[in-house]
Amino acid sequence: MQILVTGGTGYIGSHTVVELQKRGYEVIIVDNLSNSRREIIDNIEKITGIKPVLEVFDLEDRKKTSDFFKKYPDLKGVIHFAAFKAVGESVEKPLMYYRNNLVSLINILESMQENDVENIVFSSSCTVYGQPDHLPVSETAPIKKAESPYGNTKQISEEIIQDTIKVSKINGIALRYFNPIGAHESALIGELPLGVPNNLVPFITQTAIGIRDELKIFGNDYPTPDGTPIRDYIHVVDLAEAHVIAIKRMIDGKMKNDFEVFNLGTGTGYSVLEVVKAFEKVSGVKLKYKIVGRREGDIVQVWADPTYSNKELGWKAKRNLEEMVASAWKWEKAYRSRI
Ligand code: UDP
Repeated sequence: MQILVTGGTGYIGSHTVVELQKRGYEVIIVDNLSNSRREIIDNIEKITGIKPVLEVFDLEDRKKTSDFFKKYPDLKGVIHFAAFKAVGESVEKPLMYYRNNLVSLINILESMQENDVENIVFSSSCTVYGQPDHLPVSETAPIKKAESPYGNTKQISEEIIQDTIKVSKINGIALRYFNPIGAHESALIGELPLGVPNNLVPFITQTAIGIRDELKIFGNDYPTPDGTPIRDYIHVVDLAEAHVIAIKRMIDGKMKNDFEVFNLGTGTGYSVLEVVKAFEKVSGVKLKYKIVGRREGDIVQVWADPTYSNKELGWKAKRNLEEMVASAWKWEKAYRSRI
């Protein structure tokens, strides 16, 4: 059973490739390596014993995308990760984000239509809910006006998929991720931000290993118990497992509608300071940090209501916060010792 994973050498993509291969799927990766490394393919092979096929090109290229689908006529589905994902950068370079994230999706959908590939799982985000009116947030919560061009590309992409489904045989599942962190237990794949990390956990592990001087905590005057913002952190391997279930659900014809949306979170929120404390506990490292001003665009708190995903997908996030930060720390140390 052949599956295309776009962005399969990236953070969530690589973990999903491993889980797919473990369950017997044949994975073809398309990636332009703009934010990842080719060596990830070898590390995936070390974990699963199978080297996935990697085709390096840009999905913004209509012709190359079309040629790719013709070359692989047996594809049963697409899991589409390939996209730019830095919120701040998207504010600086909106057109680059709109072009890359939307044109690639359109090219993929056109090629799927032309080649009768009917199933697409799309990487969406809880950012579509903005600061929800009710917590925990369920899939039926209203979509709020996007805070950034990045967030807007996720909203528009979901709409593009829905509109395409209405006039084609294509089915879609949008998975709305909360905050994926952690790494595979082997420490052979993990999150590899190029340059200074934007996200909390890579910043913590890079500070602990001495690459960054100190973690800056963006505000402790929020209306939360300890004053720092709250997020629903989810282990990347739990997240990856949900993708395998989603694509199988589509291939097996088990969908309730031709477009479905699922929250991927644990249902529990943790503050920034709680994440720092969990990290210090599992690593034994005293983290240097200081409180600075709030980061623009940050919401106060969000965590998922995963009831619908748990019930419909038969999936549940299993790994706790300590396992998440411990695996991120193991990955950081292993990666630094290899380079
Ligand atoms: N955060 C922080 N310092 C950092 C990076 C993040 O205090 O260097 C906080 C940020 O304000 C937010 C939480 O950590 O409350 C998670 O941020 P991240 O960028 O990882 O994910 P987001 O929820 O913003 O997508």
